[in-house]
Amino acid sequence: MTTTNEVTAAPHWVVPHWIDGAEYPSTSGRTAPVYDPALGVETKRVALADKAEIDAAVASAKAAFPGWSDLSLARRQAVVFKFRELLDARKGELAEIITSEHGKVLSDALGEISRGQEVVEFATGLAHHLKGEFSEQVSTGIDVYSTRQPLGVVGIISPFNFPAMVPAWFFPIAIAAGNTVVLKPSEKDPSAALWLAGLWKDAGLPDGVFTVLNGDKEAVDGLLEHPDVQAISFVGSTPIARYVYETGTRHGKRVQALGGAKNHMLVLPDADLDLTADSAINAGFGSAGERCMAISVVVAVEPVADELVSRIVDKMKTLRIGDGRRGCDMGPLVTGQHRDKVASYIDIAAQDGATVVVDGRDVRADGDANGFWLGPSLIDNVPTTSRVYTEEIFGPVLSVVRVPSYEAGVELINSGAFGNGTAIFTNDGGAARRFQKDIQVGMIGINVPIPVPVATFSFGGWRDSLFGDTKAHGAEGVKFFTRLKAITSRWLDPSHGGINLGFPEND
Ligand code: NAD
Repeated sequence: MTTTNEVTAAPHWVVPHWIDGAEYPSTSGRTAPVYDPALGVETKRVALADKAEIDAAVASAKAAFPGWSDLSLARRQAVVFKFRELLDARKGELAEIITSEHGKVLSDALGEISRGQEVVEFATGLAHHLKGEFSEQVSTGIDVYSTRQPLGVVGIISPFNFPAMVPAWFFPIAIAAGNTVVLKPSEKDPSAALWLAGLWKDAGLPDGVFTVLNGDKEAVDGLLEHPDVQAISFVGSTPIARYVYETGTRHGKRVQALGGAKNHMLVLPDADLDLTADSAINAGFGSAGERCMAISVVVAVEPVADELVSRIVDKMKTLRIGDGRRGCDMGPLVTGQHRDKVASYIDIAAQDGATVVVDGRDVRADGDANGFWLGPSLIDNVPTTSRVYTEEIFGPVLSVVRVPSYEAGVELINSGAFGNGTAIFTNDGGAARRFQKDIQVGMIGINVPIPVPVATFSFGGWRDSLFGDTKAHGAEGVKFFTRLKAITSRWLDPSHGGINLGFPEND
Protein backbone atom coordinates (compact mmCIF):
# COMPACT_ATOMS: atom_id res chain seq x y z
CA MET A 1 0.00 0.00 0.00
CA THR A 2 1.37 3.41 -0.93
CA THR A 3 1.31 6.26 1.52
CA THR A 4 1.24 10.02 1.14
CA ASN A 5 4.79 11.26 1.12
CA GLU A 6 4.47 14.95 0.36
CA VAL A 7 7.63 16.62 1.65
CA THR A 8 7.36 20.23 2.72
CA ALA A 9 10.35 22.41 1.88
CA ALA A 10 10.74 26.06 2.82
CA PRO A 11 8.75 27.88 0.12
CA HIS A 12 10.71 30.42 -1.89
CA TRP A 13 7.96 31.94 -3.92
CA VAL A 14 4.25 32.60 -3.61
CA VAL A 15 2.57 32.59 -7.03
CA PRO A 16 0.73 35.95 -7.11
CA HIS A 17 -2.34 37.15 -9.01
CA TRP A 18 -2.11 39.11 -12.27
CA ILE A 19 -4.22 42.25 -12.11
CA ASP A 20 -4.01 45.43 -14.20
CA GLY A 21 -1.30 43.95 -16.42
CA ALA A 22 1.16 43.12 -13.63
CA GLU A 23 1.89 40.64 -10.87
CA TYR A 24 -0.28 41.45 -7.88
CA PRO A 25 1.06 40.05 -4.60
CA SER A 26 -1.59 38.71 -2.28
CA THR A 27 -2.24 40.15 1.14
CA SER A 28 -4.91 37.62 2.13
CA GLY A 29 -2.45 35.66 4.26
CA ARG A 30 -3.83 32.41 2.80
CA THR A 31 -1.75 30.19 0.52
CA ALA A 32 -1.74 26.58 -0.71
CA PRO A 33 1.20 24.31 -1.57
CA VAL A 34 2.34 23.68 -5.15
CA TYR A 35 4.40 20.51 -5.68
CA ASP A 36 6.84 19.20 -8.23
CA PRO A 37 5.16 15.80 -8.53
CA ALA A 38 8.23 14.02 -9.91
CA LEU A 39 10.29 15.16 -6.92
CA GLY A 40 7.49 14.91 -4.38
CA VAL A 41 8.43 18.26 -2.83
CA GLU A 42 6.62 21.51 -2.30
CA THR A 43 8.44 23.96 -4.56
CA LYS A 44 6.29 27.04 -4.08
CA ARG A 45 2.99 28.22 -2.71
CA VAL A 46 0.09 29.91 -4.42
CA ALA A 47 -1.93 32.87 -3.21
CA LEU A 48 -5.55 32.22 -2.26
CA ALA A 49 -7.62 35.32 -2.92
CA ASP A 50 -9.85 36.99 -0.36
CA LYS A 51 -12.79 39.26 -1.05
CA ALA A 52 -10.70 42.39 -1.51
CA GLU A 53 -8.53 40.65 -4.12
CA ILE A 54 -11.56 39.22 -5.94
CA ASP A 55 -13.06 42.71 -6.05
CA ALA A 56 -9.78 44.21 -7.30
CA ALA A 57 -9.55 41.62 -10.09
CA VAL A 58 -13.13 42.10 -11.27
CA ALA A 59 -12.92 45.90 -10.98
CA SER A 60 -9.82 45.95 -13.20
CA ALA A 61 -11.51 43.72 -15.79
CA LYS A 62 -14.65 45.85 -15.67
CA ALA A 63 -12.67 49.06 -16.17
CA ALA A 64 -10.90 47.56 -19.20
CA PHE A 65 -14.11 46.44 -20.91
CA PRO A 66 -15.36 49.69 -22.53
CA GLY A 67 -12.03 50.41 -24.24
CA TRP A 68 -11.37 46.83 -25.34
CA SER A 69 -14.87 46.11 -26.63
CA ASP A 70 -14.89 49.40 -28.52
CA LEU A 71 -11.62 48.65 -30.31
CA SER A 72 -12.16 47.50 -33.88
CA LEU A 73 -12.34 43.79 -34.48
CA ALA A 74 -9.31 44.09 -36.76
CA ARG A 75 -7.22 45.57 -33.93
CA ARG A 76 -8.40 42.99 -31.40
CA GLN A 77 -7.62 40.19 -33.82
CA ALA A 78 -4.17 41.66 -34.45
CA VAL A 79 -3.37 41.20 -30.75
CA VAL A 80 -4.61 37.61 -30.90
CA PHE A 81 -2.41 37.02 -33.98
CA LYS A 82 0.60 38.34 -32.08
CA PHE A 83 -0.25 36.18 -29.07
CA ARG A 84 -0.37 33.14 -31.37
CA GLU A 85 3.06 33.94 -32.83
CA LEU A 86 4.61 34.37 -29.39
CA LEU A 87 2.98 31.22 -28.05
CA ASP A 88 4.20 29.20 -31.00
CA ALA A 89 7.74 30.51 -30.58
CA ARG A 90 7.94 30.12 -26.81
CA LYS A 91 5.75 27.12 -26.01
CA GLY A 92 8.75 25.12 -24.79
CA GLU A 93 8.96 27.41 -21.73
CA LEU A 94 5.30 26.84 -20.96
CA ALA A 95 5.67 23.06 -21.36
CA GLU A 96 8.44 23.04 -18.75
CA ILE A 97 6.26 24.95 -16.31
CA ILE A 98 3.40 22.50 -16.84
CA THR A 99 5.62 19.47 -16.34
CA SER A 100 7.15 20.91 -13.18
CA GLU A 101 3.74 21.42 -11.51
CA HIS A 102 1.46 18.85 -13.13
CA GLY A 103 3.97 16.07 -13.76
CA LYS A 104 2.90 15.10 -17.30
CA VAL A 105 5.79 14.33 -19.66
CA LEU A 106 7.16 17.24 -21.69
CA SER A 107 5.88 15.94 -25.05
CA ASP A 108 2.39 15.69 -23.59
CA ALA A 109 2.64 19.20 -22.14
CA LEU A 110 3.59 20.43 -25.62
CA GLY A 111 0.63 18.50 -27.01
CA GLU A 112 -1.83 20.27 -24.73
CA ILE A 113 -0.37 23.65 -25.69
CA SER A 114 -0.77 22.82 -29.39
CA ARG A 115 -4.43 21.94 -28.85
CA GLY A 116 -4.92 25.23 -27.00
CA GLN A 117 -3.11 27.07 -29.78
CA GLU A 118 -5.71 25.71 -32.21
CA VAL A 119 -8.36 27.74 -30.41
CA VAL A 120 -6.15 30.83 -30.55
CA GLU A 121 -5.90 30.28 -34.31
CA PHE A 122 -9.67 29.90 -34.53
CA ALA A 123 -10.03 33.22 -32.69
CA THR A 124 -7.75 35.01 -35.17
CA GLY A 125 -10.57 34.53 -37.68
CA LEU A 126 -13.37 35.54 -35.35
CA ALA A 127 -14.54 38.27 -37.74
CA HIS A 128 -16.06 35.51 -39.85
CA HIS A 129 -17.93 34.00 -36.90
CA LEU A 130 -19.22 37.33 -35.61
CA LYS A 131 -20.93 38.12 -38.91
CA GLY A 132 -24.60 38.80 -38.34
CA GLU A 133 -27.55 38.11 -40.61
CA PHE A 134 -29.34 40.62 -42.82
CA SER A 135 -32.77 40.51 -44.38
CA GLU A 136 -33.59 43.26 -46.81
CA GLN A 137 -37.08 44.69 -47.30
CA VAL A 138 -38.82 42.34 -44.82
CA SER A 139 -41.57 44.90 -44.84
CA THR A 140 -41.86 47.89 -47.14
CA GLY A 141 -38.78 50.03 -46.56
CA ILE A 142 -37.72 47.95 -43.56
CA ASP A 143 -34.56 45.83 -43.12
CA VAL A 144 -33.76 43.52 -40.20
CA TYR A 145 -30.28 42.51 -39.15
CA SER A 146 -28.49 40.95 -36.21
CA THR A 147 -25.18 41.48 -34.45
CA ARG A 148 -23.31 39.61 -31.74
CA GLN A 149 -21.87 41.75 -28.96
CA PRO A 150 -19.57 40.91 -26.05
CA LEU A 151 -20.95 40.29 -22.56
CA GLY A 152 -18.51 42.19 -20.34
CA VAL A 153 -16.40 40.53 -17.62
CA VAL A 154 -16.36 36.74 -17.97
CA GLY A 155 -14.88 34.25 -15.49
CA ILE A 156 -13.02 31.07 -16.41
CA ILE A 157 -12.45 28.46 -13.69
CA SER A 158 -10.16 25.63 -14.72
CA PRO A 159 -9.00 22.21 -13.44
CA PHE A 160 -5.48 20.98 -12.73
CA ASN A 161 -5.18 18.48 -15.54
CA PHE A 162 -4.80 20.90 -18.47
CA PRO A 163 -3.42 24.14 -17.00
CA ALA A 164 -2.90 25.69 -20.46
CA MET A 165 -5.31 23.96 -22.85
CA VAL A 166 -8.52 24.18 -20.84
CA PRO A 167 -8.24 27.94 -20.18
CA ALA A 168 -7.36 28.28 -23.87
CA TRP A 169 -10.63 26.57 -24.84
CA PHE A 170 -12.26 29.81 -23.71
CA PHE A 171 -10.07 32.90 -23.38
CA PRO A 172 -9.05 33.38 -27.05
CA ILE A 173 -12.67 33.54 -28.18
CA ALA A 174 -13.82 35.56 -25.17
CA ILE A 175 -11.06 38.13 -25.71
CA ALA A 176 -11.32 38.35 -29.49
CA ALA A 177 -15.07 38.87 -29.14
CA GLY A 178 -14.41 41.92 -26.94
CA ASN A 179 -14.90 40.57 -23.42
CA THR A 180 -12.48 40.91 -20.54
CA VAL A 181 -11.46 37.74 -18.74
CA VAL A 182 -10.78 36.76 -15.12
CA LEU A 183 -9.12 33.32 -15.08
CA LYS A 184 -9.16 31.33 -11.82
CA PRO A 185 -6.73 28.46 -12.48
CA SER A 186 -6.37 25.31 -10.40
CA GLU A 187 -4.43 25.97 -7.22
CA LYS A 188 -2.47 22.75 -7.91
CA ASP A 189 -0.64 24.16 -10.98
CA PRO A 190 -1.22 27.92 -11.20
CA SER A 191 1.99 29.11 -12.89
CA ALA A 192 0.94 28.37 -16.49
CA ALA A 193 -1.84 30.96 -16.17
CA LEU A 194 0.58 33.59 -14.94
CA TRP A 195 2.95 32.84 -17.83
CA LEU A 196 0.06 33.19 -20.30
CA ALA A 197 -0.82 36.56 -18.74
CA GLY A 198 2.73 37.77 -19.35
CA LEU A 199 2.51 36.57 -22.95
CA TRP A 200 -0.71 38.50 -23.51
CA LYS A 201 1.03 41.61 -22.23
CA ASP A 202 3.93 41.00 -24.62
CA ALA A 203 1.39 40.61 -27.44
CA GLY A 204 0.05 44.09 -26.71
CA LEU A 205 -3.17 43.26 -24.89
CA PRO A 206 -4.30 46.29 -22.85
CA ASP A 207 -3.98 45.94 -19.07
CA GLY A 208 -7.05 44.51 -17.39
CA VAL A 209 -8.31 42.51 -20.37
CA PHE A 210 -6.73 39.27 -19.06
CA THR A 211 -6.59 38.83 -15.28
CA VAL A 212 -5.45 35.86 -13.23
CA LEU A 213 -7.09 35.42 -9.85
CA ASN A 214 -5.51 32.62 -7.85
CA GLY A 215 -7.55 30.92 -5.21
CA ASP A 216 -9.81 28.17 -3.99
CA LYS A 217 -13.54 27.89 -3.24
CA GLU A 218 -13.58 31.44 -1.88
CA ALA A 219 -12.40 32.84 -5.24
CA VAL A 220 -14.85 30.62 -7.14
CA ASP A 221 -17.77 31.71 -4.98
CA GLY A 222 -16.64 35.32 -5.25
CA LEU A 223 -16.81 35.15 -9.06
CA LEU A 224 -20.11 33.23 -9.06
CA GLU A 225 -21.77 35.83 -6.86
CA HIS A 226 -20.11 38.98 -8.18
CA PRO A 227 -22.64 41.34 -9.79
CA ASP A 228 -20.08 42.55 -12.35
CA VAL A 229 -19.30 39.07 -13.73
CA GLN A 230 -21.60 38.23 -16.63
CA ALA A 231 -20.69 34.64 -17.47
CA ILE A 232 -18.72 31.67 -16.15
CA SER A 233 -16.98 28.90 -18.06
CA PHE A 234 -16.09 26.14 -15.61
CA VAL A 235 -14.26 22.83 -16.10
CA GLY A 236 -13.73 20.34 -13.28
CA SER A 237 -15.26 17.41 -11.45
CA THR A 238 -19.00 16.74 -11.70
CA PRO A 239 -20.05 17.68 -8.14
CA ILE A 240 -18.29 21.06 -8.40
CA ALA A 241 -19.57 21.62 -11.97
CA ARG A 242 -23.13 21.05 -10.78
CA TYR A 243 -22.58 23.43 -7.85
CA VAL A 244 -21.05 26.09 -10.12
CA TYR A 245 -23.90 25.83 -12.61
CA GLU A 246 -26.61 26.07 -9.95
CA THR A 247 -24.93 28.89 -8.01
CA GLY A 248 -23.93 30.90 -11.07
CA THR A 249 -27.33 30.70 -12.76
CA ARG A 250 -29.03 31.57 -9.45
CA HIS A 251 -26.97 34.75 -9.52
CA GLY A 252 -28.20 35.55 -13.00
CA LYS A 253 -25.10 34.51 -14.93
CA ARG A 254 -24.71 32.62 -18.16
CA VAL A 255 -22.88 29.40 -17.14
CA GLN A 256 -21.33 26.47 -18.98
CA ALA A 257 -19.91 23.90 -16.55
CA LEU A 258 -18.04 20.91 -17.95
CA GLY A 259 -17.80 18.02 -15.48
CA GLY A 260 -16.17 14.63 -15.01
CA ALA A 261 -16.13 11.54 -17.17
CA LYS A 262 -15.90 7.77 -17.39
CA ASN A 263 -15.12 7.02 -21.01
CA HIS A 264 -15.69 3.59 -22.53
CA MET A 265 -14.04 1.98 -25.53
CA LEU A 266 -16.27 -0.63 -27.17
CA VAL A 267 -14.22 -3.29 -28.94
CA LEU A 268 -16.01 -5.50 -31.47
CA PRO A 269 -14.62 -8.93 -32.32
CA ASP A 270 -13.60 -7.83 -35.84
CA ALA A 271 -11.37 -4.97 -34.57
CA ASP A 272 -7.65 -4.84 -35.36
CA LEU A 273 -6.45 -5.98 -31.94
CA ASP A 274 -2.95 -4.50 -32.18
CA LEU A 275 -4.29 -1.06 -33.06
CA THR A 276 -6.92 -1.44 -30.35
CA ALA A 277 -4.42 -2.48 -27.66
CA ASP A 278 -2.13 0.45 -28.57
CA SER A 279 -5.08 2.84 -28.42
CA ALA A 280 -6.31 1.50 -25.07
CA ILE A 281 -2.85 2.03 -23.59
CA ASN A 282 -2.37 5.49 -25.09
CA ALA A 283 -5.81 6.67 -24.02
CA GLY A 284 -5.79 4.89 -20.65
CA PHE A 285 -2.36 5.82 -19.39
CA GLY A 286 -1.36 9.00 -21.25
CA SER A 287 -0.94 11.87 -18.79
CA ALA A 288 -1.22 9.21 -16.05
CA GLY A 289 -4.92 8.84 -16.83
CA GLU A 290 -5.54 12.42 -15.66
CA ARG A 291 -7.50 13.39 -18.76
CA CYS A 292 -11.24 13.95 -18.95
CA MET A 293 -11.13 12.15 -22.32
CA ALA A 294 -9.01 9.24 -21.04
CA ILE A 295 -10.39 5.81 -21.73
CA SER A 296 -11.04 4.22 -18.34
CA VAL A 297 -13.14 1.22 -19.38
CA VAL A 298 -12.54 -1.20 -22.23
CA VAL A 299 -15.81 -2.95 -23.06
CA ALA A 300 -14.81 -6.12 -24.86
CA VAL A 301 -17.48 -7.89 -26.91
CA GLU A 302 -16.77 -11.63 -26.54
CA PRO A 303 -14.93 -13.66 -27.62
CA VAL A 304 -12.31 -10.92 -27.98
CA ALA A 305 -11.44 -10.19 -24.32
CA ASP A 306 -8.76 -12.81 -23.53
CA GLU A 307 -6.70 -12.01 -26.61
CA LEU A 308 -7.10 -8.24 -26.17
CA VAL A 309 -6.12 -8.31 -22.48
CA SER A 310 -3.06 -10.39 -23.29
CA ARG A 311 -1.92 -7.92 -25.96
CA ILE A 312 -2.51 -4.93 -23.67
CA VAL A 313 -0.44 -6.59 -20.92
CA ASP A 314 2.44 -7.31 -23.33
CA LYS A 315 2.50 -3.72 -24.54
CA MET A 316 2.23 -2.28 -21.02
CA LYS A 317 5.58 -3.90 -20.22
CA THR A 318 7.27 -1.48 -22.64
CA LEU A 319 6.04 1.68 -20.87
CA ARG A 320 8.65 3.80 -19.11
CA ILE A 321 7.34 5.58 -16.03
CA GLY A 322 9.33 8.45 -14.57
CA ASP A 323 10.21 12.11 -14.44
CA GLY A 324 8.56 13.87 -17.39
CA ARG A 325 11.81 15.69 -18.09
CA ARG A 326 13.64 12.41 -18.80
CA GLY A 327 11.86 11.31 -21.98
CA CYS A 328 9.58 8.81 -20.18
CA ASP A 329 6.16 7.74 -21.44
CA MET A 330 4.20 8.49 -18.29
CA GLY A 331 4.88 10.78 -15.35
CA PRO A 332 3.72 10.88 -11.72
CA LEU A 333 0.28 11.80 -10.42
CA VAL A 334 -0.38 15.39 -9.47
CA THR A 335 -0.17 15.05 -5.66
CA GLY A 336 0.61 12.32 -3.17
CA GLN A 337 -2.94 12.51 -1.87
CA HIS A 338 -4.40 11.96 -5.34
CA ARG A 339 -1.95 9.11 -6.01
CA ASP A 340 -3.06 7.35 -2.80
CA LYS A 341 -6.73 7.82 -3.67
CA VAL A 342 -6.22 6.35 -7.15
CA ALA A 343 -4.18 3.44 -5.74
CA SER A 344 -6.95 2.64 -3.25
CA TYR A 345 -9.18 1.60 -6.17
CA ILE A 346 -6.86 -1.34 -6.82
CA ASP A 347 -7.72 -2.74 -3.38
CA ILE A 348 -11.41 -2.05 -3.99
CA ALA A 349 -11.18 -3.97 -7.27
CA ALA A 350 -9.71 -7.02 -5.54
CA GLN A 351 -12.33 -6.85 -2.76
CA ASP A 352 -15.12 -6.65 -5.34
CA GLY A 353 -13.96 -9.80 -7.12
CA ALA A 354 -12.22 -8.24 -10.14
CA THR A 355 -8.91 -9.59 -11.43
CA VAL A 356 -5.94 -7.28 -10.85
CA VAL A 357 -3.88 -8.21 -13.91
CA VAL A 358 -1.23 -5.48 -13.55
CA ASP A 359 -0.78 -3.69 -10.20
CA GLY A 360 0.72 -0.22 -10.71
CA ARG A 361 1.83 -0.01 -7.10
CA ASP A 362 4.74 -2.25 -8.05
CA VAL A 363 6.15 0.41 -10.36
CA ARG A 364 9.86 1.20 -10.61
CA ALA A 365 10.04 4.80 -11.72
CA ASP A 366 12.89 6.59 -13.42
CA GLY A 367 12.78 9.48 -10.98
CA ASP A 368 13.15 10.66 -7.42
CA ALA A 369 12.08 8.17 -4.76
CA ASN A 370 9.70 10.75 -3.28
CA GLY A 371 7.82 11.31 -6.59
CA PHE A 372 4.08 10.67 -6.62
CA TRP A 373 4.43 7.45 -8.60
CA LEU A 374 1.78 4.95 -9.54
CA GLY A 375 2.35 2.71 -12.53
CA PRO A 376 -0.33 1.72 -15.05
CA SER A 377 -2.81 -0.81 -13.66
CA LEU A 378 -5.05 -3.18 -15.59
CA ILE A 379 -8.11 -4.69 -13.95
CA ASP A 380 -10.14 -7.36 -15.73
CA ASN A 381 -13.65 -8.70 -15.10
CA VAL A 382 -14.67 -5.52 -13.27
CA PRO A 383 -18.22 -5.89 -11.88
CA THR A 384 -20.32 -2.95 -13.04
CA THR A 385 -21.56 -2.56 -9.45
CA SER A 386 -18.01 -1.91 -8.20
CA ARG A 387 -16.93 1.66 -7.39
CA VAL A 388 -14.01 0.95 -9.71
CA TYR A 389 -16.57 0.96 -12.53
CA THR A 390 -19.09 3.53 -11.30
CA GLU A 391 -16.71 6.29 -10.09
CA GLU A 392 -14.31 8.51 -11.99
CA ILE A 393 -10.85 7.41 -10.79
CA PHE A 394 -8.80 9.95 -12.78
CA GLY A 395 -5.58 7.98 -12.76
CA PRO A 396 -3.76 5.19 -14.65
CA VAL A 397 -6.25 2.42 -13.82
CA LEU A 398 -7.79 0.77 -16.87
CA SER A 399 -10.79 -1.52 -16.35
CA VAL A 400 -11.99 -4.28 -18.66
CA VAL A 401 -15.66 -5.27 -18.71
CA ARG A 402 -16.72 -8.24 -20.82
CA VAL A 403 -20.08 -8.20 -22.60
CA PRO A 404 -21.78 -10.81 -24.81
CA SER A 405 -22.91 -8.51 -27.65
CA TYR A 406 -22.76 -5.07 -29.28
CA GLU A 407 -26.22 -4.35 -27.86
CA ALA A 408 -25.12 -5.16 -24.31
CA GLY A 409 -22.10 -2.86 -24.73
CA VAL A 410 -24.21 0.04 -25.97
CA GLU A 411 -26.74 -0.44 -23.17
CA LEU A 412 -23.93 -0.39 -20.61
CA ILE A 413 -22.39 2.81 -21.99
CA ASN A 414 -25.76 4.53 -22.22
CA SER A 415 -26.70 3.64 -18.64
CA GLY A 416 -23.76 5.46 -17.00
CA ALA A 417 -24.00 8.83 -15.28
CA PHE A 418 -21.38 10.48 -17.50
CA GLY A 419 -21.53 11.14 -21.22
CA ASN A 420 -18.28 12.85 -22.12
CA GLY A 421 -16.50 10.70 -24.72
CA THR A 422 -16.60 7.16 -26.03
CA ALA A 423 -15.02 5.18 -28.84
CA ILE A 424 -15.75 2.12 -30.93
CA PHE A 425 -13.04 -0.07 -32.42
CA THR A 426 -14.19 -2.12 -35.39
CA ASN A 427 -13.60 -2.67 -39.09
CA ASP A 428 -17.35 -2.80 -39.72
CA GLY A 429 -18.52 0.54 -41.10
CA GLY A 430 -22.17 -0.37 -40.60
CA ALA A 431 -21.61 -1.12 -36.91
CA ALA A 432 -19.69 2.12 -36.43
CA ARG A 433 -22.44 4.11 -38.11
CA ARG A 434 -25.06 2.44 -35.94
CA PHE A 435 -22.94 3.21 -32.84
CA GLN A 436 -22.67 6.92 -33.60
CA LYS A 437 -26.45 7.07 -33.74
CA ASP A 438 -27.29 4.77 -30.81
CA ILE A 439 -24.85 6.10 -28.26
CA GLN A 440 -25.90 8.80 -25.77
CA VAL A 441 -22.53 10.53 -25.38
CA GLY A 442 -21.31 13.95 -26.50
CA MET A 443 -18.07 13.03 -28.32
CA ILE A 444 -17.57 9.83 -30.30
CA GLY A 445 -14.43 8.25 -31.70
CA ILE A 446 -14.50 5.69 -34.50
CA ASN A 447 -11.15 3.90 -34.22
CA VAL A 448 -10.00 7.12 -32.50
CA PRO A 449 -9.54 6.63 -28.75
CA ILE A 450 -9.48 10.28 -27.57
CA PRO A 451 -11.99 12.04 -29.82
CA VAL A 452 -11.30 15.65 -28.80
CA PRO A 453 -12.82 17.67 -31.63
CA VAL A 454 -10.65 20.24 -33.40
CA ALA A 455 -11.17 23.89 -32.43
CA THR A 456 -13.55 24.61 -35.32
CA PHE A 457 -16.00 22.16 -33.72
CA SER A 458 -17.24 22.34 -30.13
CA PHE A 459 -16.09 20.32 -27.13
CA GLY A 460 -18.42 19.00 -24.45
CA GLY A 461 -20.22 15.96 -23.14
CA TRP A 462 -23.78 15.03 -22.30
CA ARG A 463 -25.53 14.15 -19.03
CA ASP A 464 -23.36 14.67 -15.90
CA SER A 465 -20.40 15.73 -18.04
CA LEU A 466 -21.86 19.14 -18.97
CA PHE A 467 -24.24 21.49 -17.16
CA GLY A 468 -25.64 24.21 -19.38
CA ASP A 469 -26.45 23.91 -23.05
CA THR A 470 -23.38 25.43 -24.68
CA LYS A 471 -20.12 23.64 -25.34
CA ALA A 472 -16.57 24.96 -25.49
CA HIS A 473 -14.99 26.61 -28.57
CA GLY A 474 -16.14 26.41 -32.19
CA ALA A 475 -19.47 28.01 -33.04
CA GLU A 476 -20.90 27.26 -29.57
CA GLY A 477 -17.99 29.07 -27.92
CA VAL A 478 -18.68 32.17 -30.02
CA LYS A 479 -22.34 31.96 -29.07
CA PHE A 480 -21.51 31.64 -25.37
CA PHE A 481 -19.28 34.72 -25.25
CA THR A 482 -21.61 37.00 -27.22
CA ARG A 483 -25.17 38.26 -26.96
CA LEU A 484 -27.40 38.39 -29.99
CA LYS A 485 -29.10 41.64 -30.89
CA ALA A 486 -31.70 42.09 -33.65
CA ILE A 487 -32.17 45.50 -35.30
CA THR A 488 -35.21 46.55 -37.31
CA SER A 489 -34.41 49.59 -39.40
CA ARG A 490 -36.28 52.05 -41.57
CA TRP A 491 -34.99 55.28 -43.09
CA LEU A 492 -37.79 57.73 -43.06
CA ASP A 493 -39.16 59.81 -45.88
CA PRO A 494 -42.29 62.02 -45.76
CA SER A 495 -44.53 59.27 -47.18
CA HIS A 496 -44.05 57.25 -43.96
CA GLY A 497 -46.08 59.63 -41.78
CA GLY A 498 -49.40 58.91 -40.02
CA ILE A 499 -50.53 57.53 -36.64
CA ASN A 500 -51.40 53.82 -36.18
CA LEU A 501 -51.58 52.26 -32.68
CA GLY A 502 -51.99 48.70 -33.96
CA PHE A 503 -49.29 46.00 -33.67
CA PRO A 504 -46.83 46.48 -36.54
CA GLU A 505 -47.73 44.18 -39.46
CA ASN A 506 -45.68 43.57 -42.51
CA ASP A 507 -46.77 44.85 -45.85
P1 NAD B 1 -11.96 20.11 -9.30
O1 NAD B 1 -13.43 20.02 -9.51
O2 NAD B 1 -11.42 19.65 -7.98
O3 NAD B 1 -11.45 21.63 -9.48
C1 NAD B 1 -11.80 22.40 -10.60
C2 NAD B 1 -11.84 23.86 -10.19
O4 NAD B 1 -12.82 24.04 -9.17
C3 NAD B 1 -10.51 24.35 -9.60
O5 NAD B 1 -10.23 25.62 -10.11
C4 NAD B 1 -10.76 24.37 -8.11
O6 NAD B 1 -10.04 25.38 -7.44
C5 NAD B 1 -12.24 24.64 -8.01
N1 NAD B 1 -12.85 24.02 -6.82
C6 NAD B 1 -12.43 22.90 -6.19
N2 NAD B 1 -13.25 22.64 -5.15
C7 NAD B 1 -14.20 23.59 -5.14
C8 NAD B 1 -15.34 23.85 -4.31
N3 NAD B 1 -15.65 23.06 -3.29
N4 NAD B 1 -16.10 24.92 -4.61
C9 NAD B 1 -15.81 25.73 -5.65
N5 NAD B 1 -14.74 25.51 -6.47
C10 NAD B 1 -13.95 24.47 -6.22
O7 NAD B 1 -11.28 19.33 -10.51
P2 NAD B 1 -9.75 18.96 -10.69
O8 NAD B 1 -9.41 17.86 -9.73
O9 NAD B 1 -8.92 20.17 -10.72
O10 NAD B 1 -9.76 18.40 -12.19
C11 NAD B 1 -10.13 17.09 -12.51
C12 NAD B 1 -11.59 16.98 -12.87
O11 NAD B 1 -11.89 17.85 -13.96
C13 NAD B 1 -11.98 15.59 -13.34
O12 NAD B 1 -13.23 15.28 -12.79
C14 NAD B 1 -12.05 15.73 -14.85
O13 NAD B 1 -12.89 14.79 -15.50
C15 NAD B 1 -12.59 17.11 -14.96
N6 NAD B 1 -12.30 17.66 -16.30
C16 NAD B 1 -13.34 17.72 -17.17
C17 NAD B 1 -13.12 18.19 -18.45
C18 NAD B 1 -14.25 18.28 -19.44
O14 NAD B 1 -14.04 18.83 -20.50
N7 NAD B 1 -15.43 17.75 -19.16
C19 NAD B 1 -11.84 18.62 -18.83
C20 NAD B 1 -10.80 18.55 -17.90
C21 NAD B 1 -11.06 18.05 -16.62
